[in-house]
Parts: sequence; C-alpha cells; structure tokens
Amino acid sequence: MVTGATGLLLPLVARGLIEDLAEDRAITGALLALSGLVIANAAVGALGSYVLRRTAESVVLGARRALSSYLLRLRITAVDRSEPGDLMARITSDTTLLREVTTDSLVGLGTGGLTLVATVVLMAVVDPVLLGVTLAVILGAGTVLGVIVPRINRASRQAQDAVGVMGASLERVLGALRTVKASGAEDREERALHAAAEESWRQSVRAAKWSAAAGNTAGLAMQTAFITVLAVGGARVATGAISIATLVAFLLYVFYLMSPIQQVIGAVIQYQAGSAALSRIQEALGLPAEPAARTAPLPSSAAEPASLAFSDVRFRYAEDLPYVHHGVTFEVPARGMTAFVGPSGAGKTTVFSLIERFYDPESGTITLDGRALTDWELPRLRSAIGYVEQDAPVLSGTLRDNLLLGNPEADDETVRRVLKTTRLDDLVGRLPQGLDTLVGHRGTKLSGGERQRVAIARALLRSPRLLLLDEATSQLDAVNEAALRDTVADVARTTTVLCVAHRLSTVTSADRIVVMDAGRVRAVGTHRELVAADPLYAELAATQFLATAE
Ligand code: ADP
Ligand code: MG
Repeated sequence: MVTGATGLLLPLVARGLIEDLAEDRAITGALLALSGLVIANAAVGALGSYVLRRTAESVVLGARRALSSYLLRLRITAVDRSEPGDLMARITSDTTLLREVTTDSLVGLGTGGLTLVATVVLMAVVDPVLLGVTLAVILGAGTVLGVIVPRINRASRQAQDAVGVMGASLERVLGALRTVKASGAEDREERALHAAAEESWRQSVRAAKWSAAAGNTAGLAMQTAFITVLAVGGARVATGAISIATLVAFLLYVFYLMSPIQQVIGAVIQYQAGSAALSRIQEALGLPAEPAARTAPLPSSAAEPASLAFSDVRFRYAEDLPYVHHGVTFEVPARGMTAFVGPSGAGKTTVFSLIERFYDPESGTITLDGRALTDWELPRLRSAIGYVEQDAPVLSGTLRDNLLLGNPEADDETVRRVLKTTRLDDLVGRLPQGLDTLVGHRGTKLSGGERQRVAIARALLRSPRLLLLDEATSQLDAVNEAALRDTVADVARTTTVLCVAHRLSTVTSADRIVVMDAGRVRAVGTHRELVAADPLYAELAATQFLATAE
C-alpha cells in the first residue's frame, strides 16, 4: 500500500515541477521531493516483497504439513482408490503453485487494485471527461478477458492433473524397476512417461497461450486508452477546456494505470493456476480419513493376551465387488496359536485387515476382549496388535529404523533378545555397520528370508497382545523356519497368535486350525481332528505330506 501511495504521488509532484518550470520558479524543492519519493518507493518495495515472499513460503509449508498429516491418516479404502504418485504430486508440486497465488497474485490484487482505485479517483479530479474515455476502453478489454480467464483455469487444472498422472507412472516404474527391466518393458514404460509429460506440456502451453492473450489484451487496451486520451485531450486543450499541464498529468496517470492493470490481470491469471492447484489439494483433503485419536496409543507392554471373535461377518471391498466374507464366524481364546488355512483367495488376509480395522465389515461383529472393535480407539486397538503382513515390506532406511518402527523405545537388551529369537543376530554381526546398515529401497539389500525375519522382529518388539502372522515364514529355509516355529510357539504361551500358513507342516502343532474356503469357515479343529473330519483339509494334508515325504 505504501509503495502504491508513493508511486501515486509522483505525477502530482511532476505536475508541480512542470508548472514551476513554466512560471520560471526554482525547481529544487520539487526535485528533492521527487528523489525522496523514488527512494522511499524502492525501499518499501524491497521490504514488502521480502515479507510477502516469506508469507507465501509459510502458506506452502502450512499446506504441505496439513496434507502430509492428512495423508498418513487416510482410510485404507481411500488409499485403494488413489494413486500414491498422484497424491505425492499434490503434496510436492501443487503446493508450490500456492506460492505464486500468495505472493504475486496477492500483491497484484492488493497493491494493483488499490493503486487502480486511487488513480481513477485522482484522474476524476484532473479531468472527468478524459476519465470517461479511459474507462470505456478498459470496459471493452474486461469483456474479452471474461471469456479468456476461465480457459486458463481449465488448462492449468489439466496440466496439474497430468503432473499427477506422471507421478503415478513414475511410482509404478521406479517401484518395480527390476521387473520392468527383466521384462524388457523399458520402451513401453518410457512412452507412457513421455505421454504424461507431453500432456502436461500441451496443457501448460494452452494455458500460456491464453495467458499471453489476456496479458496483451490488457496491454492493447492501455495503448488504445493512451492514444484516445491524447486525441480527445488534444482537442480539449485546443478548445481551452484544459491546460497542457493537466493533459500531461492525465497522460501520466494513464501511463500509471498500465502497471496496476497489468498487475491485476497478472494476478487473475496466476490465481487461475493457483486455484487449479488448490482444488486438487482440497480434493486430497476430502478423501475419507480415520477419526483423529483422542488418546495417544498406549505404550505396549506384554499385558494380558487378547481374545478375539468374529460373528457372522459379511464383507466386500467395495459395493461393486463380490463378497469376500459370507458370514465368517470363529472364536479365538486368549493365548495359544490359531492357524488359518485354505486356498488362496479364501479370505484369510482379509480377516487380518478387518482386525486392524483397515476396513469395517458390512454386517456382523468383531470383538477383541469381548468389546466390539468399533468401540476401541484406533491407536489403542492397533497398539495391542503386532501385524506381519503378507509380503511385509521393509522400509528404506537402516535396519534399526525398521526394527524400532513400532516401538522406538525398545531397549538394547530387548532388541538383542528379539534378534536372537528371529535368528537375525548372525546377519547383524556380519554387517560392518550392524544395525545401522542401510537396507535400500523396500529392503532390496536383504534376502527375502531376511526381510521376513526383520518384519517378524519388528512385530515382536511391540510386545503385542495379539500377534498376526500372514505367511510370515514362506520364504525361510527349512532350518530357519523350524527355529521360527519354536519362537512363535514360545510367544504363543504368553500371547494370542493368529497365523496364516501356506505350508501345513508349520501349523500341525497349532492349538486350533480354522479352515477357510471361498469366504466361509469350513471347519475348526486340531490337525488330528480335521484330517478325520474335513475332506478339503485331509486332501491338503495328503498332498503336502506326500510332497514332503518325496
Ligand atoms: P487369501 O489371503 O485367503 O489368499 P485375501 O483375503 O487376500 O485371500 O483375498 C480374498 C479376495 O479378496 C480375493 O479374491 C482378492 O482378490 C480380494 N481382495 C483382496 N484385497 C482386495 C482389495 N484391497 N480390494 C479389492 N479386492 C481385494
Ligand atoms: Mg493372503
């Protein structure tokens, strides 16, 4: 505002100077005033742009913070429907577009708008007739801009969407680069990446085209106004309606109008890109999130083992997908080991996802310690559970980061004990940097079996009351698997353990086995009982033991 005001005074001082000259007065005073104004204008301008830029960066920071916190709390159903690469682009790329909105755009609208109003008022004082001429020209230009500006918005939105698509393709390729290379699919994936980049280019060029048209419509309007004012003003000077000094002052104002008008138009154009980005950010913030926790998760302590029950649970992943659970019912008392077996696709992993409340069943109830899961505060519920996912990922970072992910407070002694029971102590001993060794993206520097043991150790370090193991030992060699079986049997004395195993040999000693098939529980019993009572289980057992015998 101060910059605008000091700038605005310049023509008035200039008029004084010209009048001084015309009437042969000394011009020192007017010159001094002019220099003072110019210096003040520059100094305040510099301070202003620093403060604004800083504010804009804070807006970007705020948006990035809000989005990161929000995305970590997304419901898994929302994650299933989104592209992580696109969400990433919203946090990293779209937020930067807010910067322009809050600096140039805001300054443009603020100072430009104010200067504009003040200039128009001053012009009215100088000569209302010439002001009328000027406004008529500006109005014509405004009509043209009304058509162009929405097009800039649409093109900007599509350009940002294309950046999102590119993020998604990048994530797809970089996440599976080995498979892409091994499949010889680099060229095809390259084309897909280029197509997304080119689409973003095309849309940005479209936005640039309309922005250029808008910018130059404003420029053209101002030149037209200048010429018209010169012509009409010249005629008025000839008839003696106004003095030559007044015409010069008015022309200076027309000249001065150019920059605020350009500023306002520029602000409107930039706001289009910003609002396109803002709408993408708001979409991300509109995805369903888990309820915010009212309590912090309890520190896990090897408290009482949990009991669990499913009662007539029906579930499907989405309304347009078939049911995955058609009334699943079973009970698991506290302590001991319960195994889930059945063909792939039977719904075993889904049982675990429902226990973690990544999804909620459509009907039926699930209870932990006799309390419905929906009555548990989410962090409390999850702090009671140690979950080793099927194909559990190892995160990039160090071994220590990975192990302590679920319990950063675990002391060295506990870590050492868990490393020993999961047979990771040898590996850690062999590595020059021990626990501080970097494991690579998704743990690529570890073998499959090592990754699985890291995942099991991570879950055990939480001292869970309920341990969920989903095919957690599928990649271990026979020796390691036997050792882990003993460890799990040990854990099951003080904790409730649920495990899915694809090798029956690992579950024959389980306290109870739940046989699942096509979203239903077929039978529950011990290995001995089931071999006698359930044909599917008997068949599975027969083929697998035959294979083992061979
Ligand atoms: P299991 O672990 O017994 O092999 P799952 O519980 O993983 O079986 O899957 C059961 C069914 O649910 C499968 O048909 C699978 O395709 C489907 N499914 C699993 N996860 C999802 C998901 N996130 N969205 C849609 N369908 C899914
Ligand atoms: Mg599974």
